Amino acid sequence: MAMTVATSLCSLALVLLATATSASALKVDSTLLEKAKEDHVWLLSIRRELHTKPELMYKEYETSKVIQRELESIGIPFVAGIGGTGVVATLGSGEGPVIGLRADMDALPLDEESSVEFKSENEGRMHACGHDIHVTMLLGAARLLKRMEKQGELGRGTIKLCFQPAEEGGAGALHMRKYLDEAGVQLKSMFGFHVWPNLATGKVATRRGTIMASAAFFKCFFKGKGTHGAMPHLGTDPVVAASAAIQALQTLVSRTSSPFDSSVVSVTQFKAGEALNVIPDKTMIGGTVRAMTEETMRNLIERATMIMESIGKAHGCEVVVDFMEKDHPVTPPVVNSKASHELVSSVGKALLGEDSVIETEPSMAAEDFSYYTQNNDGAFTFLGIQGGADGTFPLHHPKFTADENVLPIGVAFHTALALSSLGENTKSEL
Ligand SMILES: [Zn+2]
Ligand SMILES: [Zn+2]
Repeated sequence: MAMTVATSLCSLALVLLATATSASALKVDSTLLEKAKEDHVWLLSIRRELHTKPELMYKEYETSKVIQRELESIGIPFVAGIGGTGVVATLGSGEGPVIGLRADMDALPLDEESSVEFKSENEGRMHACGHDIHVTMLLGAARLLKRMEKQGELGRGTIKLCFQPAEEGGAGALHMRKYLDEAGVQLKSMFGFHVWPNLATGKVATRRGTIMASAAFFKCFFKGKGTHGAMPHLGTDPVVAASAAIQALQTLVSRTSSPFDSSVVSVTQFKAGEALNVIPDKTMIGGTVRAMTEETMRNLIERATMIMESIGKAHGCEVVVDFMEKDHPVTPPVVNSKASHELVSSVGKALLGEDSVIETEPSMAAEDFSYYTQNNDGAFTFLGIQGGADGTFPLHHPKFTADENVLPIGVAFHTALALSSLGENTKSEL
């Protein structure tokens, strides 16, 4: 496939790039993108193999086997079975500093409607969030970094390649973080990417500070007393109670949160009776809360619980509010550190051109990458993929497709971030 990614690579092997916010400068190997493109056929074959075999969270058995098969063939040691299917591979000298690179592995419960010839072969399963691309890019980085290691170009330091299960609401990152902590791995910084349909291929979007929101999910059950639809005075109506609670929840963002501190409360489910002439004895509402800080999230959860409980009781119903934290722990916000944000920005400009790195608005979507950067340095970055086979559709859409030219870009980016962060091949200069 012809490469269409616009790059402005210097003819010199090394580009000297001054960061805007500090006096330091980085040398980034500008040939990394060309080196990554040498593996383009292999990258395509891995991505398409994974795309045909999408698997849901914590059931990524075949995906894990493909990862292990390729790591074995590249010759990189790994530990498998983390959180069930997760894999952590290790490159480098074994000494500090340690850099982490992350890819998530799971797919979504969707029937694929794209026109690509390598469509999902697993009914009701689809890689509609691009995690097949994330895995492929990290395997590509493994291959490229191993080649450099053999040529003695890796220098001192260690790189942990983290293939993570269950990002789609399963908090798989918690298992990975626990494994790394228990193994005594002290990460200097952690980097992760997400393919992003709103961006052109070859563009990168990032920001300092919070880039993705904290997320919580809830269900609330109202128990009243069922009765004939024509005789409501003989019962206790849980439909009216739930409706009143839904209306009151709308005041949380407008009356409780600061206008300068973005948050969202969305009720997405309302389950009630079956018959048109029966007032049911119970109803259920459910939804999600998003916030930019953990403090705001805790406040919203507390206030939402009070609203649903007190309004339900005022209507004579018994109320149970469940924020489901056992199965869906509250996801913290993804916060990019100053140092890692500057590194991503500098490396992106060096690899893809000065105009290719965009400072983006934060997204109210959530990502469990936040577990790696909680109390730790790191950055999460969006990679453009516009130009897929069927045009541009959002993530999680059954027609989602991506421009596969992003594959070598992600490989080179992972590799450059690891090398730059380790600071051996690409020494910082004052
Ligand atoms: Zn997703
Ligand atoms: Zn995703």
